[in-house]
Amino acid sequence: MKKTAVYPGTFDPITNGHLDVIRRGAEIFDNLIVLVAIRKEKHTLFNLEERLELVKCATKDIPNVQVATLDKLLVEYLKENKIRFVLRGLRAVSDFDYEFQMALTNSTLYPEMETVFVMSSRKYIFLSSSLVREIASYEGDVSGFVPGCVIKKLKKKVIR
Ligand code: ADP
Repeated sequence: MKKTAVYPGTFDPITNGHLDVIRRGAEIFDNLIVLVAIRKEKHTLFNLEERLELVKCATKDIPNVQVATLDKLLVEYLKENKIRFVLRGLRAVSDFDYEFQMALTNSTLYPEMETVFVMSSRKYIFLSSSLVREIASYEGDVSGFVPGCVIKKLKKKVIR
């Protein structure tokens, strides 16, 4: 049976760290759905459509990756779509607390769910969307940190 996983996140914007996690996930699973979360409670730099567009653009060369919106609780999405596997990335120890809490809470709500953690390449282990936003806000060079299609959009966004 084919194995499908989802990779949920805010992706504000997608970075090379996210992309590294996606590439690893696409090798492990037959299908990987990147789920871009709406994030009502968070003020994001890019709106949902922009975040979706950037993830689509960055992953267009990976054939078994699809992109969709997450507009409900993750466990509801998983139950509705009969998906058990969730992919998340781990950077430093600082990610662990939050990821541990999320994985345990979600698996209480949906016991069949399995969270699979991957580490990104050491090149990206320090990289986060917030760092990228910060560098861009001072008009710094983000070209080593984000996929090509993000660079232009980020420049436009911070100039405005
Ligand atoms: P969220 O708001 O759900 O944390 P993010 O877009 O910040 O959304 O991150 C989504 C997932 O990607 C998280 O599991 C996060 O730990 C992981 N991630 C982000 N950047 C990296 C990176 N550079 N290396 C490994 N994992 C990463």
